[in-house]
Amino acid sequence: MAKWVYMFTEGNATMRNLLGGKGANLAEMTNLGLPVPQGFTITTEACTQYYEDGRKINDEIMAQIMEAITKMEEITGKKFGDKENPLLVSVRSGARASMPGMMDTILNLGLNEKVVEVLAAKSGNPRWAWDCYRRFIQMYSDVVMEVGKKYFEELIDKMKAEKGVTQDVDLTAEDLKVLAEQFKAEYKEKIGEEFPTDPKEQLMGAIKAVFRSWDNPRANVYRRDNDIPYSWGTAVNVQMMAFGNMGDTSGTGVAFTRDPATGEKKLMGEFLMNAQGEDVVAGVRTPQKIDQLKEVMPEVYNQFVEICHKLEDHYRDMQDMEFTIEDKKLYMLQTRNGKRTAQAALKIACDLVDEGMITEEKAVAMIDPRNLDTLLHPQFDTAELKKAVPVGKALGASPGAACGKIVFTADDAKEWAARGEKVVLVRLETSPEDIEGMKAAQGILTVRGGMTSHAAVVARGMGTCCVSGCGDIAMDEENKKFTLGGKEYHEGDALSLDGSTGNIYDGLIPTVDATIAGEFGRIMGWADKYRTMKVRTNADTPADAKKARELGAEGIGLCRTEHMFFEGDRIDAFREMICSDTVEEREAALEKILPVQQGDFEGLFEELEGNPVTIRFLDPPLHEFVPTEEEDIKKLADAQGKTVEQIKTIIDSLHEFNPMMGHRGCRLAVTYPEIAKMQTKAVIRAAINVQKAHTDWNVCPEIMIPLVGDIKEFKFVKKIVVETADAEIAAAGSDLKYEVGTMIEIPRACLTADDIAKEADFFCFGTNDLTQMTFGFSRDDAGKFLDAYYDAKIFENDPFAKLDQTGVGSLMEMAIAKGRPVNEKLHVGICGEHGGDPSSVEFCNKLGLNYVSCSPFRVPIARLAAAQAAIAEKNA
Ligand code: PEP
Ligand code: MG
Repeated sequence: MAKWVYMFTEGNATMRNLLGGKGANLAEMTNLGLPVPQGFTITTEACTQYYEDGRKINDEIMAQIMEAITKMEEITGKKFGDKENPLLVSVRSGARASMPGMMDTILNLGLNEKVVEVLAAKSGNPRWAWDCYRRFIQMYSDVVMEVGKKYFEELIDKMKAEKGVTQDVDLTAEDLKVLAEQFKAEYKEKIGEEFPTDPKEQLMGAIKAVFRSWDNPRANVYRRDNDIPYSWGTAVNVQMMAFGNMGDTSGTGVAFTRDPATGEKKLMGEFLMNAQGEDVVAGVRTPQKIDQLKEVMPEVYNQFVEICHKLEDHYRDMQDMEFTIEDKKLYMLQTRNGKRTAQAALKIACDLVDEGMITEEKAVAMIDPRNLDTLLHPQFDTAELKKAVPVGKALGASPGAACGKIVFTADDAKEWAARGEKVVLVRLETSPEDIEGMKAAQGILTVRGGMTSHAAVVARGMGTCCVSGCGDIAMDEENKKFTLGGKEYHEGDALSLDGSTGNIYDGLIPTVDATIAGEFGRIMGWADKYRTMKVRTNADTPADAKKARELGAEGIGLCRTEHMFFEGDRIDAFREMICSDTVEEREAALEKILPVQQGDFEGLFEELEGNPVTIRFLDPPLHEFVPTEEEDIKKLADAQGKTVEQIKTIIDSLHEFNPMMGHRGCRLAVTYPEIAKMQTKAVIRAAINVQKAHTDWNVCPEIMIPLVGDIKEFKFVKKIVVETADAEIAAAGSDLKYEVGTMIEIPRACLTADDIAKEADFFCFGTNDLTQMTFGFSRDDAGKFLDAYYDAKIFENDPFAKLDQTGVGSLMEMAIAKGRPVNEKLHVGICGEHGGDPSSVEFCNKLGLNYVSCSPFRVPIARLAAAQAAIAEKNA
């Protein structure tokens, strides 16, 4: 019989896959002898089984759960459903990878009318008993039965108004009792049944709800963004309740062993007296700083600090902990490696190395490459910032600079962003339903909540700038306006946020690019030490190449030459070239383009200082370049000495039904060899000039032929390139070396890679096209149906962003296996979008690629991911 349930005493930290992060760490803390309310974990496999069984908890799992309840009763001396000494539990989700706030929690389970009456009388604390009960009804209704939260919140607000109080804690036992009655009535009205009284029924309902929450829309979005497979499932933790809402000697809080925003080594956190966990996270009341616990309860504080040290030493990483104080007794409810900003991640990793806690390799391995993105994004221009005066200040909850137009709802944020607006989302507080809007916004500003509020935690995870807890804002969400610093702000007004200082500015403050220095530089240095795969960049202009070099690129893996023709009067010459009727006309147009291209290439070779530069020959669908405006058509006709009608006929003839599978890539060079000739001249002349100017550099252009599917295509174009290049080199009296290779982006090229490798100096996987052609769907149109594919669980990720290792990856593997043996000098890289995606980089490392190439801002991400892959491989 499979084991579906583990007591905390049966697990440990290495059992994360089975017990989830929370469950494994609760077990580990139990083993360490820390004060953990005891309980059990229902495994992630049980979650998978629940889905396999058609969203049902089968008899075997159910029996093991009830057995575990019996064991809990033995451990605690309490009884489930007992009036005199009831066992009350919390039910929480806990996946392998932490997904803060994404799934659901139910507290105080096991209560019913009879139990609560006795509890109220016996405990001498009726307020606490009724508070627990009303919370339970509220959470159960919301999480298990999906009755909206707002109905209950409205009832609370009404009660507070009637009683003339502002805080929940000011409601009396009697008020809470009345509220519990009202809640149950609300439940009955919405559900059509009485609120369940049987603890077993409550428990199974709660467990099912947690399993179900694995598949809720916000969890699905979070998983996609964080590379967490759906198949992992979530575990469920059932734990004896520790009560933070028992009065002024009880409380609850969250804390980090180091500052999750800056990485500074100091205890950081917040707590609320007389409260339960969700109050802190939900930002309902503004909590106190953890340091103040020293004054409130010195002994508990000291014990907690000692535990923090113990946990950090044990896990050798910054810990994020939840605790509850029940009548002066401390309980640990959770510990995990804390989520942190990219800046904090770098500082913590470096500090841990300096403290002798971890090795450099470990430091490299512990940083999430995707996180670096935030550091590579613009910050406020310092000079401009100096001139600006903040209109308000709150908590710098997630760093970075953001400016944009104000919106008030997550839906508006999504909508405005979809039409290209930069927006700042301003909310009273955020909740998990807002996640997509938060993602769409440049920055988030909340009126309520602390550093651990939902907005703060989620924004940090996403790398989005967030300023939280700005109590100075007088908010009118309904009418989409607020006042701050004496000014009234409306939807669409401009606002800037500094997520590091928490400053809020009127208007838009310009931003500047980030640089790699300090701890970032140190980590990147270690990454370079341990990685074996090179990292190049996709750059079409000297400016891009310069940026990429600053960020550590070791070469250009792809220069898309067609991108050089969009600007200024270049497009005119290019159009003349396309709309030529004869070779002579075309050559005349190409003559105009040649010096311009040569200049571009010289700029690239200069920036790369002798490092490899791969220049790909023209690869656009031609119709993208033809004029559409009447005025432009006339201009072209005049330049060509043709009539407007003649030009229109040529344009019509260029129309394609499937341009992505049409007249592009090497097919253009086959139809118009003079284009390949011109491009070869431009590359070779530029290389010769730059080599002459810098004799100590080794300028070696790599000419890349796109969209090859047949060796004969490659040979055809290569012949033009070689003849032209050799003639140029001979004429210049130079000894320049160059290579001719191919993109591998058509499945047939993979299948016949052994033939192609005999002729090609290198392969570079164009996984954008290779993905398109392997799946057989258009890279430009896939977005239209991908959402349906996610919903139907056919895809978990966009295969154009994250490499399909099974299908496309197999083709790559085949191409390498066929290619390398016939050409031992063959070097192989990748330049599709996947070259900057961490999990794809890891796969490329496994395949033994020589390099990955990605856009400039992803170069550091790829460097780190390549190092992590190498370290993991070495340690495997
Ligand atoms: C590719 O197809 O992966 C590629 C890099 O080329 P492009 O995106 O220009 O088609
Ligand atoms: Mg391509």
